[in-house]
Amino acid sequence: MSTSPGHSDGNERYPFCPKCGARFGRAVRAGRERLVCPACGFVFWQNPNAGVAAIVIEDGAVLLTKRGGSERAGLWDLPGGFVEYDEDIRDALVREMREETGLTVAVGRVFEVHSNFFDDTGRHSVGVWFLARRMSGTLGAADDVIDARFFPLEALPPDEEIAFETDRLVLARLRNQLPAFER
Ligand SMILES: [Zn+2]
Repeated sequence: MSTSPGHSDGNERYPFCPKCGARFGRAVRAGRERLVCPACGFVFWQNPNAGVAAIVIEDGAVLLTKRGGSERAGLWDLPGGFVEYDEDIRDALVREMREETGLTVAVGRVFEVHSNFFDDTGRHSVGVWFLARRMSGTLGAADDVIDARFFPLEALPPDEEIAFETDRLVLARLRNQLPAFER
């Protein structure tokens, strides 16, 4: 198993066992130190969350959303969010797009996958960027999004106005290689 030096293992985030409330100890399980409950034996397997984002391109312009909410507010990102525990990953993207942009999308192929290490919060998600196409709906910002607009690929917001490093990487790749939507 490889680890990523410099990134948090997440163990410092949770002092107490979620099953019985005892204070966690640490022990090696499956080759590395984990949070293990000394009272009930529960092992806290820390795994990244799954995130999804949509790449919707119309007339050479890509849809970006401006973040409201509490984290990185006022910055642009590719629309999307986190997969619910009981939800299929593509259904999550359709739901997030409806919630944030008012659009109903068809989900196409995977364009890119990245690990997102949020060193400010110690969190880690695996992001999957899907090509998507508008099927219906009128574009409008909703939920925790305060603006939603199509930007020509040659006139994107500057990097410092993009919320996430991985979105910057995806946008750079899009500029070099405009993909076609395929189911
Ligand atoms: Zn316990």
